[in-house]
Amino acid sequence: MHELSIAHSLVEIAVETAENARMKRVKALYLKLGALSGVVKEALEFSFDVVIQGTPLEGARLVIEDVPVKVFCPDCQEAHKLPEPFPMRCPVCGTRTGQVLEGRELELYSLEGGEGDAADDAKPPNC
Ligand SMILES: [Zn+2]
Repeated sequence: MHELSIAHSLVEIAVETAENARMKRVKALYLKLGALSGVVKEALEFSFDVVIQGTPLEGARLVIEDVPVKVFCPDCQEAHKLPEPFPMRCPVCGTRTGQVLEGRELELYSLEGGEGDAADDAKPPNC
């Protein structure tokens, strides 16, 4: 399950980004996930929840934006979005194309920070 290692790197990047931005708490991570990224969304969500335990990101949400496949059709000379990643044919004229413009994304594009309110940072009494 390579989603676990992907989740690890996402968390590393996010922690570093949050530190650089002096963000005390991260409420949400926004990720673009292409249909051809090879990542199983549910597995990534699950791994993320496991990986953030004990990190500064604990409690953060992972918001995944699905990116459909967009191909360039040499016949139409236009870009088209595919309703399904496969088969990779132009949805208008049916020409096969391997020119993928979008759909391979695995990109953390935004972090949503919290204010770091005391209420949010409450620790168990015997800590
Ligand atoms: Zn076409």
